[in-house]
Amino acid sequence: MHRVQIKDKTFVLKFAQDDIQKRISDLAKQIDHDYNGLKPLFIIVLNGAFMFASDLIKNINIECELTFVKLSSYQGMQTSGQVKEIIGLQHNIAGREIVVVEDIVDTGITMENLLTDLNKLGPKSIRIASLLFKPESFQKKFPIHYIGYSIPNDFVVGYGLDYDELGRNFPEIYELTHT
Ligand code: 5GP
Repeated sequence: MHRVQIKDKTFVLKFAQDDIQKRISDLAKQIDHDYNGLKPLFIIVLNGAFMFASDLIKNINIECELTFVKLSSYQGMQTSGQVKEIIGLQHNIAGREIVVVEDIVDTGITMENLLTDLNKLGPKSIRIASLLFKPESFQKKFPIHYIGYSIPNDFVVGYGLDYDELGRNFPEIYELTHT
């Protein structure tokens, strides 16, 4: 499919399935190389990263563990902004080599909050693997070691990412058309 319609929006194909698979297998090779013998723990951020994580982990050949978390939103007592809390982290991450697996880093606010919370639990190291990255929108300074694609500041869906909860099932990535 070259174009998809979700509700009132039209999206056009950005990355085809085989392109994504190739890119992910390259990322997995890099991670295999970097973490050989270190038994990393992959922390997969639901919902958006489920498809990326599945394909990435299938391509990882070194010994590793994985766990899934969600980020909840609630109104913080002291701040007017939204504070996200980690839900479902059952592993003890103290002293572990962590790879956080995310679908997209946009402004970086969500990831920075997550990194702050994870760092309080005393991991040995944390690196990020994000399928997508929007450098023009990024406001933070933390490094993202494994990036699938850097993309312009356009809204994308598919391959786990949604528009109003729709489109997560697409095996490709689509971007919003401006026409
Ligand atoms: P942040 O701005 O905090 O880096 O991004 C927070 C969240 O916004 C991401 O985890 C993702 O859920 C959502 N997001 C940012 N850009 C896009 C996009 O282009 N498409 C979709 N579907 N979600 C996005």
